[in-house]
Amino acid sequence: MNVVGRSVLAVTNRPTVRKLFSESAVGRRLSLRFVAGETIDDAAAAVQVLNEMGAQVSLDHLGEHVADVTAAVAARDDYLDCLDRIHADGLDANIAVKLTQLGLGLDDDLAVESLGALASRAADAGTTVTVDMEESELVERTVTAFETVQARHGNVGIAVQSYLYRTPADLDRIVARGGHVRLCKGAYAEPPEVAYQQTGQVDAAFDALTRRLMATPAIKPAIATHDNDRIDLAKQLAGSRTGPWEFQMLYGVRRNLQRSLLDEGYPVRIYVPYGTAWYPYLTRRMAERPANVAFFLRAAVGR
Ligand SMILES: Cc1cc2nc3c(=O)[nH]c(=O)nc-3n(C[C@H](O)[C@H](O)[C@H](O)COP(=O)(O)OP(=O)(O)OC[C@H]3O[C@@H](n4cnc5c(N)ncnc54)[C@H](O)[C@@H]3O)c2cc1C
Repeated sequence: MNVVGRSVLAVTNRPTVRKLFSESAVGRRLSLRFVAGETIDDAAAAVQVLNEMGAQVSLDHLGEHVADVTAAVAARDDYLDCLDRIHADGLDANIAVKLTQLGLGLDDDLAVESLGALASRAADAGTTVTVDMEESELVERTVTAFETVQARHGNVGIAVQSYLYRTPADLDRIVARGGHVRLCKGAYAEPPEVAYQQTGQVDAAFDALTRRLMATPAIKPAIATHDNDRIDLAKQLAGSRTGPWEFQMLYGVRRNLQRSLLDEGYPVRIYVPYGTAWYPYLTRRMAERPANVAFFLRAAVGR
């Protein structure tokens, strides 16, 4: 993440700014640019539209770093309901989950157990679970949880971040378990001890990982980016890919690009967040593209 993105996160993480946005009607309205809505009905409606366009979906019931075990159990139950809804409505969707939402950091065993419960219910619904990747200090425990649950259930995938130095070594472990792997650049402000700081370095690492994933039949790669150069490389490699793969993009980001990739016949999955806990998600979208901050501020002052 560049210096401007870091500054955006430093400001938006301040309690007063968080309060201003997360508790205002303006903030809620603005979140709708990147979030499908607050309820499962909103999410299901968005999935229907995307499925009709030819896109698959990953549903993210927003939440992370829950305050206590009760909230972690409630988050698991919300996701179980989400999987039941996917099944009942015949939606072409899986779920994406953050382990800190299931209690990682409060009760790690509970988080792993809950991930297993989600994998099991997802299997009943004929779908899969993707584990999002969060801050660098959680990566070791996240990869270990993935290994444990994937060994038992076989329908779990995980996100990896090209900005982290450790990702190639993590991939050795992940590939040994199979499943799907979502490659992204990484959305958190990480220090130079663990992560590349320059855009060019993050992009070069992304390309090297794309080459590796596309050449690995044991896993299903998801190339998660809106970056034209990264997308072009995946397209070049697609011809010699044996086995399934897909592009992934975020709801509300570069919609025309999403549509044109679908028109060209590429498999595209859209990451669709929903729920009331949208603030941290929104701050990362602002940090990626500071122009979004101006958009939000203009709306906040009513212009
Ligand atoms: C499906 C998906 C899942 C993800 N999961 C994770 C995860 O588990 N963990 C994690 O750390 N990160 C995750 N990310 C976020 C990711 O790490 C990047 O922060 C984000 O995708 C921006 O990087 P980019 O590859 O699109 O390239 P960039 O170089 O940042 O963007 C390329 C172009 O895309 C457009 N763009 C990018 N972001 C935005 C935005 N917010 N608003 C408007 N336009 C934008 C701009 O036109 C920009 O020039 C995920 C991203 C995707 C697409």
